[in-house]
Amino acid sequence: MYAAAVAIVRLAELIGQDSAAEFLRGVVRQGRPANAYLFQGPAGVGKGTAALAFARALLCERSPGALPAGSPDLFAGNGGASAATGSSGDACGECGACHKSADLQHPDLKFVFPVSGEERDLETTIAETLDAVRQDPLFVFLYEKAASIRISITRELLRELAFQPYESARRLVVVRDADRMREDQYSALLKTLEEPGQSTVWVLTTSRPARLPATIRSRCQKVRFAPLAEARLQSFLEQRANVPSSAARLLAALSGGSLARALVLRDTEPLEVRDQALALLAPAQQGDAQGLWRAAQAFMDYRRTGREKLRRMFEIHQLWLRDLLRVQAGASHEMLANRDRLAELERQAARVGPREIRRRLNVLEEAIQSIEGNVTADLTVFSAMARVSGGRLGEGRWPAHPTARWDY
Ligand SMILES: [Zn+2]
Repeated sequence: MYAAAVAIVRLAELIGQDSAAEFLRGVVRQGRPANAYLFQGPAGVGKGTAALAFARALLCERSPGALPAGSPDLFAGNGGASAATGSSGDACGECGACHKSADLQHPDLKFVFPVSGEERDLETTIAETLDAVRQDPLFVFLYEKAASIRISITRELLRELAFQPYESARRLVVVRDADRMREDQYSALLKTLEEPGQSTVWVLTTSRPARLPATIRSRCQKVRFAPLAEARLQSFLEQRANVPSSAARLLAALSGGSLARALVLRDTEPLEVRDQALALLAPAQQGDAQGLWRAAQAFMDYRRTGREKLRRMFEIHQLWLRDLLRVQAGASHEMLANRDRLAELERQAARVGPREIRRRLNVLEEAIQSIEGNVTADLTVFSAMARVSGGRLGEGRWPAHPTARWDY
């Protein structure tokens, strides 16, 4: 027996996914899980965390049906929940199975995820990732474009499925970002999903369900995950991720409902990044075209700015403008993403009308859309800043379409 309870993320503790969590706890309580589940929803909203929590709950010795037939009921007469009657639908955090699964060491819990890099480094890469997940409950999986679920891994996994689970009555296979597989992997997977009476429960997650073959999707029970509400994200960042409240509000607003995105941005000094982005406007407001051009180029040079950073820069400007609208509508200061710069917001809100603010928001939206195309990035920055500056470099004097060639 294990004396101490173990730190384990429970379904009940998932943030902002109440209906998914409630549904999954119901499945655990009933003790008759389906063959396969597909957790789908935007990236970074907790699907992967939920998948592991669900798997751990199903493996927990106190959950109905978890123990092989004929096993003694360890908790009967122990004052604890009997496996048959009192399941909370969650991992207990105390039994042997919970200790192992919390540590990702349970032999019947298979955790598969995309990796990149050389095949010969595969074992190290996977071991390092698992270590990072164990050490940091807020670990964020970030993938290179080419990251994939390796064939060698799924092959080994499928071989193992031919045998009975080791300790539990069921085996749990969690596949993160299951859309990163090859066609032949799906057909092999499909075969096992179609086999009746098996002891394996698959939990696949994806933020791009359309990339999964329809044949796979149709064999999975779907569980939908929604973007997280800003307020929930904000309080989570403050209470659990040590983010000061002024930055937490901005991060929550910038993250589009994705905790993973907020956590990545957390490490980039969000308030400074915001200030740098907003400072790009200054030369435009002063009518200094040359200065704006230099600033746009410097921004693009800065650590080889990618699309993501460019997009974020425009989004920061959008947040600022939305704050101006909120100030004009008399919203409470708590609602403002940039409340640490309140005096400035109030000054500008008194000067610029809501119609003009909406026009500027549209300009920025167009700029964000154009990033997807093949644009000249520094020109996009230049043009957008000129058009939202409201200064002497205003609308009409600069190419309306940022892809136009700008010979300065
Ligand atoms: Zn347990």
